[in-house]
Amino acid sequence: VTLCAHLRIPMPELPEVQTVVSTLRPMLINRRLATVTLRRNDILCPDGCDFPKHLAGRTFRDIDRRGKRIVFTLDDGNRFYIHLGMSGQLTVTDADAEVRPHTHLEIAIAPASNVGKRNLRTQVLRFRDPRRFGGIWWLGRDASHEDDMGPEPLTLRPAELHRRLQKTTRAIKSALLDQTLVAGLGNIYVDESLFVAKINPLRRACDLSRDESNRLNRAIKQVLRKAIRFKGSTLRDYRDARGESGGFQIRHNVYDRAGKPCRVCKTPIERIVLGGRSTHFCPKCQKPSRGKQPGK
Ligand SMILES: [Zn+2]
Repeated sequence: VTLCAHLRIPMPELPEVQTVVSTLRPMLINRRLATVTLRRNDILCPDGCDFPKHLAGRTFRDIDRRGKRIVFTLDDGNRFYIHLGMSGQLTVTDADAEVRPHTHLEIAIAPASNVGKRNLRTQVLRFRDPRRFGGIWWLGRDASHEDDMGPEPLTLRPAELHRRLQKTTRAIKSALLDQTLVAGLGNIYVDESLFVAKINPLRRACDLSRDESNRLNRAIKQVLRKAIRFKGSTLRDYRDARGESGGFQIRHNVYDRAGKPCRVCKTPIERIVLGGRSTHFCPKCQKPSRGKQPGK
């Protein structure tokens, strides 16, 4: 696989971020944070925030996902989130494990005192991000970071999706990438969902019928749940918090399969660039518009 142009670098999306959160939780919740080392300040927002001081000595009360953000809640109620950007990795390893290049943040986790031998060693939560499109956002007790985010797709009701799609004339592919319309989707899972729903990515969002919106809503949930079950897609940098790759990439129907036969009808998968993003679809299963096929 060649991934040279920026168009082709996949970003961790909802299933990958959910997998990171699910692997972080048992390792970090209720554990005390010891030393906090921030190696570069330009990955922190707002700048000037004394992040290590806010964290030292606290424990993690909760870790959750919102869209593509990993939201950490401390025992004093303060919160921060990490966005993995394109190449971000958040892993928990033993303290003596080798520090890889581009590791911008290290949080030493004190050994748990109440559990046998298993957690007696000091562990380290490390955030590395070679491309630095990700970062850390300190929220404090402010909840307004969610104001510009759309609803979560796994709990989105079909009528709500339809209502939101009716408001935009953009191509359905571009509309679904908009985090204010629905949160957490990116290039891979939008392409995969549109294939399952048999909807052409170039269709105008507002032209989708209620039936099509319902189908799309079901397809999004089905694709995301399956991807979470396989722990996400690893095409390049993505790893979960234990450093393991995902397994969903070999199950993609269209994403990164240009020229290969459609798994349903054998027609070669097409790749186009739409709104600056590579877009993959089957021209036969995902016809450009309904009822306009000659001779049918
Ligand atoms: Zn097909």
